[in-house]
Amino acid sequence: MSGHSYMLRSGAVEYELSCDRCGEVFHCGDDSYYSWPVLCDAAEAEGWRVNPALDGEHECASCASILVAPARSPAFTCGR
Ligand SMILES: [Zn+2]
Repeated sequence: MSGHSYMLRSGAVEYELSCDRCGEVFHCGDDSYYSWPVLCDAAEAEGWRVNPALDGEHECASCASILVAPARSPAFTCGR
């Protein structure tokens, strides 16, 4: 689980999204961290793979790209 929420003294909730694999924390330049769905959208736009569930699996862009990259399929050679 890599999503965290913080209850601020003001009553607002901040969310933090970090990568399950390398621990990188997603930083957004705006106030997206006040809403988990918005934060997920912002992270996805940056290439992150996020789970809608706060305690789901989340991967940063670099880790996700490694996983998404298809395993090199064996080349089909016909004939010799
Ligand atoms: Zn990562």
